[in-house]
Amino acid sequence: MDLRKRTWAEISLDNIEHNYRRIRSILPENCKFLGVVKADAYGHGAVEVSRRLESIGADYLAVSCLDEAVELRDAGIGIPILILGHTPREYVRELIERDLTQTVTCEAKAIEYSREAVALGRTLRIHIKVDTGMSRLGFLTAGGHFEKGVENIVSACRQPRLDPEGVYTHFAVSDEPGVEARRYTEEQFALFQRVIAAVESAGIRFRIRHCANSGAVAGYPETALDMVRPGILLYGFGDGGKLGLRPCMRLMTHVSTIKYIDAGLPVSYGGAFVTPRRTRMGVIPIGYADGLLRSLSNNCSFMTEQGPAPQRGRICMDMCMIDLTDLPQVNLESLIEIFGQRQSAETLAAQAGTISYELLCSVSKRVPRVYVEASAQK
Ligand SMILES: *Cc1c(COP(=O)(O)O)cnc(C)c1O
Repeated sequence: MDLRKRTWAEISLDNIEHNYRRIRSILPENCKFLGVVKADAYGHGAVEVSRRLESIGADYLAVSCLDEAVELRDAGIGIPILILGHTPREYVRELIERDLTQTVTCEAKAIEYSREAVALGRTLRIHIKVDTGMSRLGFLTAGGHFEKGVENIVSACRQPRLDPEGVYTHFAVSDEPGVEARRYTEEQFALFQRVIAAVESAGIRFRIRHCANSGAVAGYPETALDMVRPGILLYGFGDGGKLGLRPCMRLMTHVSTIKYIDAGLPVSYGGAFVTPRRTRMGVIPIGYADGLLRSLSNNCSFMTEQGPAPQRGRICMDMCMIDLTDLPQVNLESLIEIFGQRQSAETLAAQAGTISYELLCSVSKRVPRVYVEASAQK
């Protein structure tokens, strides 16, 4: 079937390139660029996005797990790839053979990885993850944990057959407004620098120190260090309009059925919406199995050439209904934009009580990605 016959996502790699160049333009010279392409590049297609990033000079990529890294290597991506999450020690051989960089989040894992690498007679490249206030992964270093944390990092770095190329931390609130968030982020950054200084005074030298996620790239330029690590900025969101970024995904469908229904009829599962008038109702072939969040039911509109069409009734697995009564020119096969150009993914996400990230990476594998020229998408 023609990819554009049901529901599809138009992806502009040219817009990703545009965003990459905009971000680069505010970085210090010699600052490396790591593009975060986990979760299938936030739904945009990890292989295609990584190929483009590699071809325009990105220095590093990051994914969340080994399988995502292997997908990129199998596709011929050659630049360094950092795995942000855990990899079980049984896969150290694969990490080394695939030339992947593994995050190390505690001393015990460093010891396990080291044993495997020694047995193979080969070296595993690692980045040390420091927990400076996210309370997720990493060596604890805040408050009373400082001394022990530094000691454990030094020990991890000294394990045989590990090459501690990098060290990083992650900000918890760098994308939040307000003085409290600023204070917290600055504290995280200061702690990160104190940890690095203490570890380096024990004779360990990291070649790549990095911490800036999108929020920090946009709001805390002083945190760039040796490399930045943006994700959502690449895909066009999270700069508050400052950088002139462009969205890169447009989720599209079309009107597959139209019928006229009388006033007073319940629509879709649960009958949660009852027609207040005779209604020209369109059925569109997109539902929550495509990634259209069910929590948006009865609380959003989708864009037609003539303007917004209110969505009616519960969103089903494979389809949902839109009210075309006031949009007489919208007909069978008319195009419907769920989000992209006329309606921002950020706006729709807010209506669902979530963020653009979740909406983008919810677009499911049933939805074909169609790569389009920049001119088709501004
Ligand atoms: C996902 C992730 C990023 C990218 O976050 P954005 O907010 O999309 O920039 C950076 N670093 C780590 C460790 C992550 O997990």
